[in-house]
Amino acid sequence: MGEVPKFGGEVSRRQFLYGSAALAGSSVLGLSGCGKTAKSPAVGLAPALPFYDAYQPLVPIRVHTDRIFRITVCLRPFRAQGPRMEAEKIGDKTVVYNYGHGGSGWSLSWGCADVVTKMAMEAAQGAREIAVIGAGALGLTAATILQRAGAKVTVYAKERAPYTRSSRATGSWTPSSRIALSSAMGPDFATKWESMARTSFAYYQSFLGTPGAPIEWTDRYSLWDEERKPGERRASSVPQIHDFAHLDDRIADLVPKQEVMPPGSTPFPTKYVARTSSMSFNVAGYSRQLTSDILLAGGTFVDREFHSPQDFASLPEKVIVVCTGYGSRALFNDDSIVPVRGQIAWLIPQEGAQYGLNYNGLNMLARRDGIVMQYSKGGEDEGWNDTNEAPDRAYAEQGINVLAELYSRMQAKMKP
Ligand SMILES: Cc1cc2nc3c(=O)[nH]c(=O)nc-3n(C[C@H](O)[C@H](O)[C@H](O)COP(=O)(O)OP(=O)(O)OC[C@H]3O[C@@H](n4cnc5c(N)ncnc54)[C@H](O)[C@@H]3O)c2cc1C
Repeated sequence: MGEVPKFGGEVSRRQFLYGSAALAGSSVLGLSGCGKTAKSPAVGLAPALPFYDAYQPLVPIRVHTDRIFRITVCLRPFRAQGPRMEAEKIGDKTVVYNYGHGGSGWSLSWGCADVVTKMAMEAAQGAREIAVIGAGALGLTAATILQRAGAKVTVYAKERAPYTRSSRATGSWTPSSRIALSSAMGPDFATKWESMARTSFAYYQSFLGTPGAPIEWTDRYSLWDEERKPGERRASSVPQIHDFAHLDDRIADLVPKQEVMPPGSTPFPTKYVARTSSMSFNVAGYSRQLTSDILLAGGTFVDREFHSPQDFASLPEKVIVVCTGYGSRALFNDDSIVPVRGQIAWLIPQEGAQYGLNYNGLNMLARRDGIVMQYSKGGEDEGWNDTNEAPDRAYAEQGINVLAELYSRMQAKMKP
């Protein structure tokens, strides 16, 4: 197998040219991505980069539109007050709700599973049989934690991976992405959120190094040219209406600080480059592992659609944990759920490409199961109350062109 072209770890002129040659071989077209806009620390305060902190070799992404192997659309199940996590009696059943996690469902899932498992086990009063409805991020993790607490779990769901909406996520650690509105969340929400985020984070570390690398830490680069004050988020070109809560400062100790890279220490052409590391979820393999683990622990999956809560009466289990995501809006006639549409174009994975990049509204995350290109010109408000799940090819290609534009700037900079 030939050597994978990379931008080298230490930016010597030779390595720079090596990267340039790799780029020159591909007629660049771009892709996009979404995700949290990282806070930028004070610009220009970073010390020179020590040798042991040189950036990892970066495989250039082959930004050709014919390398898109699918375009997916997902609706974030957003609730202004935050996810619904409470127990309610419906007839002789106890229903424990666990839905409405916006853009944070994967990230917060283990913490939420912990909370609803306590509610469900208390309601079960010693009975072991517990139903979970839904096999997305929240259903799979709730089933796992219920099993660890001693329950015999049956998961009922209309769809399983890869057909759930959760299978169409970016796959990043984004625990406060579109999780609530600051103006609508209750006074104790931030404290509860922090506890769930910390629990989730700890669970995720237990998947590191397991076969198939379902979870891994990867470097993330933020690139920008405009002046920004320390801690300022990237301004959207479109005015933002909704005051989404940003709670990440409460758990800033969990991930490495974002550092502004000294000028010339990376191959990127922008005025500012910042780097941090974060968790990537290789959702295809990760969902498969969660499903297998549930089966191995004696769980059962049943294909079933519920049309109203009255259908729950036919279930043998007395305690039902409901993890139906955006489907909850129709199932419970719950208008508190607002869809926030998001689209991803998937590029063919490339050997050695495991990093993320954020530039001009494009969020690229190179995962093992696909290179995620999420583009959002409209900032966090984009897709608000939009139920259209049809892919928009032209928009996907616009995102790709953002990366192509970055690469052509790089190529110009690398010319002798
Ligand atoms: C573009 C995009 C990128 C994202 N990126 C990230 C990210 O990087 N990190 C992150 O943490 N989050 C991310 N999210 C958010 C995340 O995808 C969601 O929060 C999460 O998928 C919600 O999971 P869920 O299990 O609640 O819902 P779903 O995945 O929708 O699962 C619901 C389950 O319930 C079943 N169901 C629904 N209704 C019924 C019914 N009536 N009867 C029977 N079964 C039913 C479904 O079949 C399915 O099995 C992203 C979202 C979008 C749109």
